[in-house]
Amino acid sequence: MTNEESQRLISILDAIEDGIYIIDADYTLEFMNKTMVKDFGAGVGKKCYQVINNSDEICPWCRAKEVFEGETIHWEQHVPGVDKTYDLLELPLRNTDGTISKLSICRDITQRQKREEKIRASEEDYRRLFDHVGSGAYISSKKGKFLNVNQALLNMLGYKNKEEFLKIDIAKDLYLRPEDRRKFQEMIEKDGQVIDLEVDFKRKDGTPLPVLHTSHARYDLKGKVLGYEGLNVDQTQRKQMEREVKEAHDFMNNIIQSSPNAIMAADIKGNILLWNRAAEETLGYKSEDTIGRMHITSVYPEGVAKEIMKMMRSHEYGGVGKLRSYPMVYVRRDGGIVEGNLSAAIIYDARGKAVASVGIFIDLEERLEMERKLRQTQEQLLQSEKLAAMGRLTSQIAHELNNPLYGIMNTLELVKTEIPPENKRRKILDMALSETVRLSEMLRKMLSFSKPDEEEKQPTNINTILDEILLLHEKQLREHSIRISPSLAEDLDMVKASKNQLRQVFLNIISNARDAMPEGGTLSVTTRAEGDNVHVEISDTGMGIRKEDLNKIFDSFFTTKDNIKDVGLGLSVCYGFIKDHGGDIKVESEWGSGATFTIILPMFKEGAEEETS
Ligand code: ADP
Repeated sequence: MTNEESQRLISILDAIEDGIYIIDADYTLEFMNKTMVKDFGAGVGKKCYQVINNSDEICPWCRAKEVFEGETIHWEQHVPGVDKTYDLLELPLRNTDGTISKLSICRDITQRQKREEKIRASEEDYRRLFDHVGSGAYISSKKGKFLNVNQALLNMLGYKNKEEFLKIDIAKDLYLRPEDRRKFQEMIEKDGQVIDLEVDFKRKDGTPLPVLHTSHARYDLKGKVLGYEGLNVDQTQRKQMEREVKEAHDFMNNIIQSSPNAIMAADIKGNILLWNRAAEETLGYKSEDTIGRMHITSVYPEGVAKEIMKMMRSHEYGGVGKLRSYPMVYVRRDGGIVEGNLSAAIIYDARGKAVASVGIFIDLEERLEMERKLRQTQEQLLQSEKLAAMGRLTSQIAHELNNPLYGIMNTLELVKTEIPPENKRRKILDMALSETVRLSEMLRKMLSFSKPDEEEKQPTNINTILDEILLLHEKQLREHSIRISPSLAEDLDMVKASKNQLRQVFLNIISNARDAMPEGGTLSVTTRAEGDNVHVEISDTGMGIRKEDLNKIFDSFFTTKDNIKDVGLGLSVCYGFIKDHGGDIKVESEWGSGATFTIILPMFKEGAEEETS
């Protein structure tokens, strides 16, 4: 080789990016190209290990011996001094003098190796993640076979053998409803992904497994879908929790709905949130009309809701945030009034912020009604006590007056015999006599009121008594243009009664009816059996009784008539008689449209008295 030729060769070798060097059998460097010099510094004439490894000993990885024995070797080696990895091609060079040199071509593969290392590490990460993630990971083909799955998915679905699982038909063997797989495929093909799709898978034993499914499509280089990969999260526990929460919620709701007291709740702005069945019944609003539609203030009289909130914010009514048993009046949907007690509370969230209010209302209507009745009975009792006292007084007065009255009457009769009938004074005397007769009649009434005629009670047919009375008074009533309309029940049960007293009762009621119909009308008399009682209904079409007088007409001396003989004792005597028979008298009337008196008497039952006595 001429000098020129060898210069050309050297410049070619220098132009090559790979490092090239030659050593002789003594490890002395005979040649280094530019790349080699750049990496290790000029070293021709020095030992290769001094230059490459900065050492006086042969490099520990050195394979020069093999080359000197005639082999060509291709291997990789990391050189710590320069922290580079080389792909080495080393071959023997036979010199003209018969010795062998070694030619080494060193390709720096440090970067490539780092890249490969990175890929390997990320693949490793990916594999570890795939294997160890708690959810079921998978890679599948578009056709419906799994290409890879992790252990978690196998565990979730109860498969022990992965090979077996990779063979299953996804649509048929994995989905509880195969159409769900079609739905999933439609979604993923359209959007490239499916996030949190709730589906039911089928375990190996056929039992359902609810999962939350998140997947991405896998594409080839041309963008065609190859298959899918993703995660399945077992929802069994969540579903179980949901069931438990629902059960607890249903139970609470049941308690609230079954409460006999009205329970209402509203958010802090007053929008109704809860309205139980008792609230529906008590206030007349359906829950669907109130919840989310009505404001709580609209069920309270004006301003009251605000007042309640004010009370709840103060200390005085059961502590801050509470109101205990406060008397309350509500307006029902139909306008009626409901009275009762309200207990209420403000509901706070975990941070102590007021979020809602709840009220429990106890409807005291029935109790109040009972209290009213009790008061009435007490008043009646007081009334009868007063009556009894008055009776005693009346009887004393009547008694005291009776004797002198008879004395006067006798005297007048005596005087009368001494005055001839044609005498003018005789007429005056007759007038005086008739007034004394009227006075004695009044005294008789007063006596019978205070001390009714004692008569033994006997089984009595009420229809017979009524027939008699109507027959006797028919003419008189007709004269007053009053039509009689009787409707007496056949085979009416007997009652045990004093005939005289009953006669007096019916007569009194009928004559009141007559008085109430000065222009005429109809008097209806009806009898009927009802339960264990006999009912006698006497109605007229007269003027009726004013509402405010209805509960006074049985009081003694109550009268609306200005006739001197009507002293207002009739009905109170009747009431006393009927009560004495274990019965009752009721009245219904509207001012202007007649009145109906119902006398209720217990039926007489043969042998009943013997049994009870
Ligand atoms: P009196 O007939 O002497 O007034 P009562 O005790 O019999 O006394 O009746 C009391 C009052 O009840 C009467 O004054 C009258 O106002 C009222 N009353 C009783 N019956 C009737 C009736 N059928 N229609 C209208 N008012 C009646």
